[in-house]
Amino acid sequence: MPWEFDESQLTPELLEKHGRPLLNEKDIESALNDETFLKSGSAKADQTHYQKLGFQCLCNADMHAMNDDFRVNLILSASGEKFLYKCTAMGIYIFFQVKAKWLVNHYCSPIWFVDGDLFDKYAGDILKKHKNYKDIK
Ligand SMILES: [Zn+2]
Repeated sequence: MPWEFDESQLTPELLEKHGRPLLNEKDIESALNDETFLKSGSAKADQTHYQKLGFQCLCNADMHAMNDDFRVNLILSASGEKFLYKCTAMGIYIFFQVKAKWLVNHYCSPIWFVDGDLFDKYAGDILKKHKNYKDIK
């Protein structure tokens, strides 16, 4: 299913619920270069710490659990408890940050989302030039 984002849908409610859409190569480049990605398997990259914490998606499922949800794959972790997931149901990537409310209650705060084909087309080359590519290649 080709997915196209309609900029007229870009409301404050949408931004709060889903984060901002990355719409082109330049958006993806600046979003990725803002982050420090973590070596997979390092303690801080471990999403299992959050057990069944859910994050917001744009697909019909609405929410996915960070663990044990066959529709999503963890792609990268970044410092600051940030995670990049791919939703295979919709073919989009979702980037969010786990935050704590009252120190104990964790929740996922959306940062950005991007069409899967668009991301796949550009992210590889952008990441090769990334400041910590050696950690994630
Ligand atoms: Zn989804």
